[in-house]
Amino acid sequence: MSGVGKGVVTSSIGLLLQEKGYSVNLVKVDPYLNVDAGTMNPTEHGETFVLKSGLETDQDMGNYERFLNRDLSNEDSMTSGMVYQSVIARERELGYGGKCVEAVPHVRDEIMHRIDAAAAQNGSNVSVIEIGGTIGDFQNALFIDAARVLKVKHPDDVVFVMVSYLPVPSTLGEMKTRPTQHAVRELNSYGVQADFIIARAPQPLDDRRKEKLAISCNVHADRIISAPDIKSIYEAPLNFEKDKLSGALLDALKLPEKRKVSLTAWKKFAAAVANQDAPEVSIAIVGKYFDTGDFVLSDAYLSVIEAIKFSAAKLGQKAKISWVNAKHIENGDKNALAELARYQGIIVPGGFGESGIEGKIKAIRFAREKKMPYFGLCYGMQLMVIEYARNVLGLKDAHTTEIQKNAEDPVVDLMLEQKKHLDKSSYGGTMRLGAYPAALKKGTIARGAYKKDFIEERHRHRYEINNDYVVRLEQGGLVFSGTSPDGMLMEIAELPRTAHPFMLGTQFHPELQARPLDPHPLFTEFLKAAVEQKKK
Ligand code: GLN
Repeated sequence: MSGVGKGVVTSSIGLLLQEKGYSVNLVKVDPYLNVDAGTMNPTEHGETFVLKSGLETDQDMGNYERFLNRDLSNEDSMTSGMVYQSVIARERELGYGGKCVEAVPHVRDEIMHRIDAAAAQNGSNVSVIEIGGTIGDFQNALFIDAARVLKVKHPDDVVFVMVSYLPVPSTLGEMKTRPTQHAVRELNSYGVQADFIIARAPQPLDDRRKEKLAISCNVHADRIISAPDIKSIYEAPLNFEKDKLSGALLDALKLPEKRKVSLTAWKKFAAAVANQDAPEVSIAIVGKYFDTGDFVLSDAYLSVIEAIKFSAAKLGQKAKISWVNAKHIENGDKNALAELARYQGIIVPGGFGESGIEGKIKAIRFAREKKMPYFGLCYGMQLMVIEYARNVLGLKDAHTTEIQKNAEDPVVDLMLEQKKHLDKSSYGGTMRLGAYPAALKKGTIARGAYKKDFIEERHRHRYEINNDYVVRLEQGGLVFSGTSPDGMLMEIAELPRTAHPFMLGTQFHPELQARPLDPHPLFTEFLKAAVEQKKK
């Protein structure tokens, strides 16, 4: 079922095999028909994760990058939409030589071709392919069939790992294996036999249940791996090793062990993240994707949350993240604004559209005037500049043309090349996307944090700071500490340390490149300021 943790299992297997000395690539298969994840509302599908290349992908790709500690490429992600799009395009070009084009074999072949292409692109020894959805769905059946055929063609080189949930009904207090037995049988009806079962459950499996599953599911007890609930997903690979998962996988794939798994740095990091005794630093995220309740909300800002955690762990702190609904502040709720004083830092993350925007601007003004550390990500930088223009430069009607087409003072404006896309309602994959370089100004907070002159960060936006206002904003005290190398695009805005302990915004999304073993310098710098704030 969705949410059971397939993404964490996939990421963990990748990390463990990498640790064993193999080069690994991870492929995410999303059965939905969207060509990419860029057009989906984050409250419905979680955040959109942008690859270095600019491809807008599922949030699981973020976990893959964070576990493997490397960039992934376009080949590592596929959706049904992508697969069908290429099959249909090939058909239009007579690429099938007059044949009747069908789901089987043509769509299935395209899926297999993409799995090969991903491995080739990465030059990897092992591919771990995560098939999204639930056994029995119509949507993912072709992907499972492609996997079946892979096994038929390479019987010794393919193993199937099934992630299943074992409930412990509170009225019984006993773990039930029956749903998993049925799931395995359902998978059998596709012609696929699970080689491994990852048993997601509140607690580890006992021997009795392992034996029960082994006999009823045709899976060796050594290949039934406990996946109990944990405090942080970063403990998952360590838990799997308790059941010797990586050794069993190599065994099943008939691959020799090249190295012992030590995971020294990872263990240290996972312990730091889980350390409940660390001093607490309290951060408010002021955003708008809170409508669907706590359940989905953390997914909408997943990379931001993780980036905060990594930097907090590095500083020996525990981050307490609170969600502040920008709409409550916008509606004039005085308490909602005053309550911001309880935190040691405020983040306004990426966003689109009008809803909650005046609330965010009020929160930014609060952070600036009360000298509370503020970190603006993309929209959070644009709004920081709008706030500055309105309340410091006195340009009362300063706005972004995203909200007010004919704004009196359009300090944030549509990028030149974006107009043609919007005129044609061509929204999919047309933003300024992916990694672009920026040059940093000496003596600024940004330059001090990165400790280098040039950086590369990932973007996802259509609007930018309007250059007509740059001189005025700088004369008014704002510093553009990062720009595109030609100086034309404002990439980082900040207030000097003499004016404010940490008031900085980025046009890019630094959270997309924060990694457990390589926390992002700007998040670390922001949290350092927040820790200082606590002392005050
Ligand atoms: N809506 C803004 C833009 O398109 C900011 C986008 C974002 O925060 N990712 O420029």
